[in-house]
Amino acid sequence: MKNTKYVFVTGGVTSSLGKGIIAASLAKLLQDRGYSVTIQKLDPYINIDPGTLNPYEHGECYVTDDGAETDLDLGHYERYLNIPTSQANNVTTGRIYQSVIDKERKGEFLGKTVQVIPHITDEIKNRIQILGNTGDFDIVITEIGGTVGDIESLPYVESVRQLLWELGHENAIVIHLTLIPYLAAAGELKTKPTQHSVKMLMQSGVSPDILVCRTEHHISQSIKNKLALFCNVKKEDVIESIDAETIYDVPNLMLKEGLDAVVLKKLQLPNDKQPELKAWNQFLKKFKNPKNTIEIGLIGKYVELHDAYKSITEAFIHAGAQNEVKVNINWIHSEDLTTLNVPRKLKNLNGILVAPGFGERGIEGKIDAVKYARENNVPFLGICLGMQMAVIEFSRNVLNLADASSAEMDSETKNPVIDLMEEQKDITEYGGTMRLGAWDCELKENSKIKGIYKKELISERHRHRYEFNSDYLTQIEEAGMIATGRNPKTNLVEVVEIPSHPWFVGVQYHPEYKSTVLNPHPLFVDFVKAGLEHSLK
Ligand code: GLN
Repeated sequence: MKNTKYVFVTGGVTSSLGKGIIAASLAKLLQDRGYSVTIQKLDPYINIDPGTLNPYEHGECYVTDDGAETDLDLGHYERYLNIPTSQANNVTTGRIYQSVIDKERKGEFLGKTVQVIPHITDEIKNRIQILGNTGDFDIVITEIGGTVGDIESLPYVESVRQLLWELGHENAIVIHLTLIPYLAAAGELKTKPTQHSVKMLMQSGVSPDILVCRTEHHISQSIKNKLALFCNVKKEDVIESIDAETIYDVPNLMLKEGLDAVVLKKLQLPNDKQPELKAWNQFLKKFKNPKNTIEIGLIGKYVELHDAYKSITEAFIHAGAQNEVKVNINWIHSEDLTTLNVPRKLKNLNGILVAPGFGERGIEGKIDAVKYARENNVPFLGICLGMQMAVIEFSRNVLNLADASSAEMDSETKNPVIDLMEEQKDITEYGGTMRLGAWDCELKENSKIKGIYKKELISERHRHRYEFNSDYLTQIEEAGMIATGRNPKTNLVEVVEIPSHPWFVGVQYHPEYKSTVLNPHPLFVDFVKAGLEHSLK
């Protein structure tokens, strides 16, 4: 059993400073030194999970193997650390309250008044320690969402205060991530917002051990000295985090600044092996020195907010580097596409990806984009809703089932080639009730998909309610679109492809969730390769 140590990451001054990237970069450095590390995100909102949130609110909903719908930061954790996360890695205020209220209803508090302190804070502390108690990790990094000073964050900061005392200072530390703004008119970096934010943290009884300072310009030693003086930290514990060209540079930047070394010292852990980041740096070298460029169209309806497709864009970065290709993503709003303008809008693309999504908005544009890719031999990858649109397009335009649709968009259609899954029919609640998480899929002999994965049985993550309607399978296969991946138990169609097309694949699952820096996803790698071949023609 390991004596697990805890690192808390709080944020000050403003949101969007990149706590998740700092946490993941630190974890990467510690992992490279041989420590086993995991990262947890605590989100102070009342939703039980982000599964019911509109992507415009919170970006992509990430899905784990065990079927948790989580914050997109978990995607960064997996992409950096190359190890899977789980339900325990993301906890919201909603979930905390839900379990305390459930216990109260069961009479578990024996008549006591149930309060924020100690009941809510106890539940938070338990959730933080669940990962440590598995005995699998030397270090658990817990990122507290939101900004210090928010009303919603208070119970979390209080729980951190209590844990610091209970665990002892050699076992638990706080990194405070803050912003040092640059005032162009004065030509100066300003420390005051950070001073205030640290003061706010201290009012809650928590002193940061390390300050990580986000900045657009290098921070001089005199600014570091000033921050140390006002914020109760040592000079060497003020770490600069300057804007980076790519998030994948941050581990190296943190290594240079010595963040991992300072953390190990405070946690009284041996610092005898410098991180080398060998494989990581090989990836970076390829990523930064592409030999070719390709244009990929990402057709979606949330394209104004790129974070809504975070795992897809990152998967293209990993797959691009593997192919030594720069993947230029052309963000295309499906509502802007019409049958008339598609040839013009899509003509320069070397690959077309139709994205996941829900509901009716923008689907006709997606169907037009599939048609264009199919008829013009442009490499096509359809993910989840994108795969469903490919089946609809094929049914309408090749099988001539003019009203073919998904029961999700048109409950009256006579040809529901995509239909609600049997197991979904009696479900009335929205939250956490989709077909979620990892499921096995068997790949067909001699198919493109099998050649890509180079194995028979794969496991991929899902998030959907509708499925390929197998009543139409024979017709569709006879016309030239074949099912090449099926769930071995239920026979559910997971993959379709068109063998007469150079590269046309639709997957009901989400390959993007499993792409990491060290393990680029084979489907994305092959799609980019097909895009490259298309561009060289
Ligand atoms: N809306 C579709 C379904 O529920 C697809 C979901 C998705 O793209 N994640 O089946």
